[in-house]
Amino acid sequence: MVQPSYHHLILAFLIPLTLSNAVVSARLFPNVSSLLPDYAPLGGAWDAFRNFTGCHRGDKYDGLANLKSYFQRFGYIPHAPPYNFSDNFDDALEAAIKTYQRNFNLNVTGVLDAATLHQIVLPRCGVADIINGTTTMNAGKENRTASSSSKPRFHTVAHYTLFPGMPRWPEGTEELTYAFFPGNELSDAVRRVFAAAFARWAEVTSLTFRETASYFGADIRIGFFSGDHGDGEPFDGSLGTLAHAFSPTNGRFHLDAAEDWVVSGDVTRSALDTAVDLESVAVHEIGHLLGLGHSSVEEAVMFPTISSRRKKVVLADDDIKGIQFLYGSNPNFNGSTATSAPERDSSHAVSATSLLTFFAFAFSVFALL
Ligand SMILES: [Zn+2]
Ligand SMILES: [Zn+2]
Repeated sequence: MVQPSYHHLILAFLIPLTLSNAVVSARLFPNVSSLLPDYAPLGGAWDAFRNFTGCHRGDKYDGLANLKSYFQRFGYIPHAPPYNFSDNFDDALEAAIKTYQRNFNLNVTGVLDAATLHQIVLPRCGVADIINGTTTMNAGKENRTASSSSKPRFHTVAHYTLFPGMPRWPEGTEELTYAFFPGNELSDAVRRVFAAAFARWAEVTSLTFRETASYFGADIRIGFFSGDHGDGEPFDGSLGTLAHAFSPTNGRFHLDAAEDWVVSGDVTRSALDTAVDLESVAVHEIGHLLGLGHSSVEEAVMFPTISSRRKKVVLADDDIKGIQFLYGSNPNFNGSTATSAPERDSSHAVSATSLLTFFAFAFSVFALL
């Protein structure tokens, strides 16, 4: 399968013509309490992968070909075979698992252990972690980090990544327009969620964003679609891939209409295991639209996965460094996006960055003594 960011530039001009007459109803819930109480969600798209716990190289397991397709989709297996993937746990799969484990800060075992599968089945962005064979997350940076498994990891390089060739909106761009696919007929409340997501990036750069009614004339075109929607990256129903967006200056931003999108309220208190926070996903995908790839920093909004019922909307230092590398800083930005700090991470009491900052501080005090 081809990667979403690169191989559809030609299609970009054709698809809007085919989509313009479709009406797609997204599962959008105004707030958490509006979720239907008797709605029985299906499991996540990749839940069956949990059956592979403990699988290792040299054996054959029913359905393992599907896991290989997963790894190929996200860039970890570079080429599809001329025929279907086999169910054999081969060298290529082991190598893919090891790269994945490096990228997601897991123990590099090459075995499908529980921690690795837990990460694999989480809902995630449809944009690949490895594009055109370039490993941009941890695994591609190991030779530039002073880390080893036996020592604390003091990272000296940033973790944000850019797309190959570092595409960005042209020098001098001050304002980008965005518009919503007319067939979705989105409410004002939903539009406000996207406006808030754009504002988080505008806060730290000199870019501004403005909604326009002209879908085909907008720089960024946002739509909810189901299944195969014409760009070679079909959506997969509840959970699995949640959304994808294209690198600059393509501007396409697609969300899976089959998700249980929560528009407002505390998503962590949702009764539904499949509830997905709309703003969290929007902030992430806007990062791609502006030129950022995936980060190995778990608290960064550009980390590829997000659990359901989780809100993560505040840009981490890693996200800010990345976007300011591309576009410079907002002169009014004081170095902190603390205005909504309580939302920073709803599932971890102490963030990894806080710990690293603490250790770095302790280290420098030691150095002074
Ligand atoms: Zn992504
Ligand atoms: Zn799409």
